[in-house]
Amino acid sequence: MHAEVAIMTNQERAEEPVLRHDWTQGEAEALFALPFSELLFQAQTIHRRHFDPNEVQVSSLLSIKTGACSEDCAYCPQSAHYETGVKRESLMSLEDVLEAAQRAREEGATRFCMGAAWRSPRDGDLEAIAAMVEGVKALGMETCVTAGMLSDEQARRLKEAGLDYYNHNLDTSESYYGEIITTRTYQDRLDTLQRVRDAGMHVCCGGIVGMGESAADRAGLLIGLANLPRHPESVPINLLVRVEGTPLADTAALDPFDFVRTVAVARIMMPASRVRLSAGRSDMSDEMQALCFLAGANSIFYGDRLLTTENPQAQRDRRLFARLGLRMAGLGCWVP
Ligand code: SF4
Repeated sequence: MHAEVAIMTNQERAEEPVLRHDWTQGEAEALFALPFSELLFQAQTIHRRHFDPNEVQVSSLLSIKTGACSEDCAYCPQSAHYETGVKRESLMSLEDVLEAAQRAREEGATRFCMGAAWRSPRDGDLEAIAAMVEGVKALGMETCVTAGMLSDEQARRLKEAGLDYYNHNLDTSESYYGEIITTRTYQDRLDTLQRVRDAGMHVCCGGIVGMGESAADRAGLLIGLANLPRHPESVPINLLVRVEGTPLADTAALDPFDFVRTVAVARIMMPASRVRLSAGRSDMSDEMQALCFLAGANSIFYGDRLLTTENPQAQRDRRLFARLGLRMAGLGCWVP
């Protein structure tokens, strides 16, 4: 029983939401336990106070270094610990990255996101990434990087290079963390997030659900995010992609309504953040995605797909947007 969170009164719905950082496990679990329609209504009501409900931001990622990662994240095909058939690729050259960014800009992208599969960048690699950030900034675009754990100095260097956003996910609840990753700690994650904030960059931080965690763990993940000193500007909510060769390949599928609930509770707990549908979206039905938008998701992630009309995923997204009357809020990021 979760009696402490009651169904909202009309007066409560009319009040401006406060950005809270003191959520308790009981409060978060009580939100998850609300009747589905009530939960979605509360989430949509809060969503409309902060965002245009018919506008969805589109983001994507260029993988600038792929595979052979020394971490053992149980969900990840890029980990060197598992045989998944992912083709290893070393760090892309500055020229190739800038060429991709240039093409992205010509296609209308305003932000360029670069991802590298590392536990943490070596200083030499960091300099190469800083040069990429400077080059992309010189094209007049916003920049985003995900490259593992950072030292204070590395975070400062990326900020100095002009980096706008750093992505670093909490992945799951603190109590379930050790079941998923053993090569780093939850505290390591928090430390890097703090360094990114201290350096003055925006934070993109979320997690993955459907990894065999409990509902309490899903609540715990959102508490970890919402109780950060500042809410992440962007909160990717991933649905596990069960990749053959990873330890989670045979995990039971998550009930789709539990995924939608996670999106809705994220919207309520972090009302002003962009909640992004990320990995696993291509396995979701159109109806499930529509429920996620109703629950307050307002950003989508294309993943490793070509963002052109020839791309089946992009075509499907455009059709879905048209059927739902949704508009794309500019191209956040881009893939070549
Ligand atoms: S740190 Fe990133 S790239 Fe490396 S195994 Fe974990 S999720 Fe994959």
